[in-house]
Amino acid sequence: MKNIYVLAEHRKGALRDTTWEAIAAGRKLASDFGADLTCVLLAKNAGPMAELLVAEVPRVMVIDDPVFETMNSEAINLTLIEVLRPSGSYVLLMGASNSVLDFAPGLSVALDAALATDCFSLEVKDGKLLASRQMYSYKINSIVSFKNSDRVVLTLRAGSFGFSPSGAAKGSIENVQCLIDPASLRKRFVKYVEAEKGDVDISSADIIVSIGRGIGDEPDLDIFQSLADTMGGVLACSRPIVDKKLLPKYHQVGTSGTEVKPKVYLALGISGAFQHLGGIKGSPLLVAVNKDPRAPIFQVASYGIVGDLNEVVPVLEAKIKELKG
Ligand SMILES: Cc1cc2nc3c(=O)[nH]c(=O)nc-3n(C[C@H](O)[C@H](O)[C@H](O)COP(=O)(O)OP(=O)(O)OC[C@H]3O[C@@H](n4cnc5c(N)ncnc54)[C@H](O)[C@@H]3O)c2cc1C
Repeated sequence: MKNIYVLAEHRKGALRDTTWEAIAAGRKLASDFGADLTCVLLAKNAGPMAELLVAEVPRVMVIDDPVFETMNSEAINLTLIEVLRPSGSYVLLMGASNSVLDFAPGLSVALDAALATDCFSLEVKDGKLLASRQMYSYKINSIVSFKNSDRVVLTLRAGSFGFSPSGAAKGSIENVQCLIDPASLRKRFVKYVEAEKGDVDISSADIIVSIGRGIGDEPDLDIFQSLADTMGGVLACSRPIVDKKLLPKYHQVGTSGTEVKPKVYLALGISGAFQHLGGIKGSPLLVAVNKDPRAPIFQVASYGIVGDLNEVVPVLEAKIKELKG
């Protein structure tokens, strides 16, 4: 593999976390393959973003054009085809975001490249690329290899590739003219529809206290909010809590809720259904309290307390208060 490309993703003029995670994965692949690493930035007023990227990657290819103000999947798709076609062997890395999902399969077909989506781990073994991804709604992990392919498109699961800024790359910025005719595009951006904003943003919280059906039918939520406050965290929940209208939807963790990337995740009365666990990214310190010792959540928990949460929570809060002085 000669070239590793990373697509820089941005929203409202700022690079998204997925970009840095793809760069982390790209650095590793470039080192393992002895390949060149290039970040492709398609943006309007790209300068400030390009400056951030060039401190982290050896080469940044920039196409600065109004058509790239938003992540227009058609414009990006057509441009990446032009960039990658002449490029010999390559791996293209992109975040597994909604915008990328929109064009990654079509792009791989147009390039006659292999595609693996939502990868959570990559390795190079005996000179071959292996990608790990989950199948059947997170029930099994699979390791994918790429038969006879020196052109590979990968999308990466958010929270799976930790990025450490070095700020020392001193790379080069290569400005390229727009390679497509914006007037020919059939897709256009209309507007951002913001998700319902709540009083908390669980997606960026470092500490989460999450409650599930085990809290019972008529719970006193103040008890759990108080524990979250004591821990310096926020209150989240599993889907039944939202279904029962105990908390608004923006508190729900999971595949049909919000993806979270906390450092500490305390699960109270949550069984550990894959739809719930699928929303917990990275490897947080996961502490589970459940009265059923066979609850699936104990298979993934860092620490487990088998017991009634009504007894455990007050003890836990008192202990944390004591430790905090
Ligand atoms: C398409 C689809 C999408 C979904 N998306 C999501 C999603 O985004 N997020 C999500 O969370 N779910 C989602 N679900 C639902 C998911 O399948 C589970 O039903 C749900 O996660 C279960 O929530 P729970 O763990 O709170 O409840 P349960 O599975 O009912 O578990 C309750 C747990 O509490 C324990 N318990 C009971 N009493 C106590 C007590 N006093 N003390 C301690 N422990 C106690 C029990 O032992 C049990 O393990 C989705 C389902 C579908 C079909």
